[in-house]
Amino acid sequence: MALQSTSRDDRLQKLVNEIYSMLASEGLPRSCAVCGAACCTVRDLQVEDDSFALTVPLRVCSQCAHQPPFPRRPLFPLEGNLSSMAASVLAYARAIVAWVASAVNPKEAAPSDRDRPTLAALVKTNPPYGRLLEAFPETTVSCAKTGQLREAGQFERQRFRGDAQVWQSYFYLTTPDELKKSTIPALILSSYPEIIDARLKQVVDHERPQEPLIIQVGAVLLPGRHWDFDCQLLTTASHAPLDSLKCQVLDTLRSLPTWPVAYPVVIVVRRGFGKPPASLRQALPQPFKSWLARILLPGLFYGEVARRFYDVTLPTEPLAVEVEDCAAIQRCLPKSAPLKILHAEFLTVLQRHDEALDIWSALIEELPDEQEVVFRRIACLARSGQLERAASECQKRICRYPSEATAYATLADLQVGMNLLSESLKTIDRALALKEAAEFFRTRNFSIRA
Ligand SMILES: [Zn+2]
Repeated sequence: MALQSTSRDDRLQKLVNEIYSMLASEGLPRSCAVCGAACCTVRDLQVEDDSFALTVPLRVCSQCAHQPPFPRRPLFPLEGNLSSMAASVLAYARAIVAWVASAVNPKEAAPSDRDRPTLAALVKTNPPYGRLLEAFPETTVSCAKTGQLREAGQFERQRFRGDAQVWQSYFYLTTPDELKKSTIPALILSSYPEIIDARLKQVVDHERPQEPLIIQVGAVLLPGRHWDFDCQLLTTASHAPLDSLKCQVLDTLRSLPTWPVAYPVVIVVRRGFGKPPASLRQALPQPFKSWLARILLPGLFYGEVARRFYDVTLPTEPLAVEVEDCAAIQRCLPKSAPLKILHAEFLTVLQRHDEALDIWSALIEELPDEQEVVFRRIACLARSGQLERAASECQKRICRYPSEATAYATLADLQVGMNLLSESLKTIDRALALKEAAEFFRTRNFSIRA
């Protein structure tokens, strides 16, 4: 559902769990993913992105396993193990074989291979794999290095779990208790790693480094609306010039919108580019090493260390959050419906109904059936004094979902507001016909009649 605000990490973990439970329960389909014939052999495929590498089994019969998109069985088995003279003879022989093939069957030879499905298309025929590829469109599929055809076994799920590598893309160094002290709303807190991640991607996409790369950003948000950053870049190339890339990363982070907090909040974001090896991730140093070098006290949490390091005075007054704070974060994540809702609710509290309505109207075009959006928009119309328009939106909703209790309740209240008491009672009578919500409406009916 569009309104759920889940992080990339959570979505990934959920999809990986789905694959595991499919392998653990019903298992793989019993037929070849290419030709559909019953078979009991599997091939392993490598499915990877910058944040995960999975080895997934796929049912393939012995016929299909050696034809494109899989590597063909070598025509000359000694290939790769020859003297240079023998290799040139082999190359010549291979050219002749190809020429004969095309001469014998000029039309079919090439196109038949081209019409074969790609590995990615084959993987997608399995629904849990397909959902993963859809959610992470930059995923690549290749034959696993150990991808010999083998008998389907009982241990597919153990193999899958044993080989799966999933890297966390962000975490908080502050404890849950420290996060609570900071008073930062959960939605805002979870938006920051996403914004930082998007900015890292923007810088790297622009620079296009050749070698696999991993970037770690430590970000601390301090009371007084102040950010500080710590950035590490690691690459597999021995002498790649990373200083300018690092400067650009820090530069793009300086314009990160702030939020008033009552206690330091420390976030770490990690992003790989070009599929960095696991060893590179393991080599990442601890973020904000300089703090720990200066404040060496056992048992201190990062929030407290940051407070001492930056010598921060904690605010005693309630924090002044402004609607512009919310708008600035929303602009960084323009697709986030939860942030738009927060922004609209904020404007409503400030009685800026027209601006709030603009946001609700844009949201309703994106999510016309989303209950939360529909009713919050109706409430906003009512608060801005447009009772008739609100009532007509309720009527529309009733036409669409005739058994939804909330629509009747809202309409009945609006009709009371418009002094249409008998209409309101009729609405309640209609609602009473809905068995499931009957009790609720009986008490409401009683309170209006009284
Ligand atoms: Zn087959």
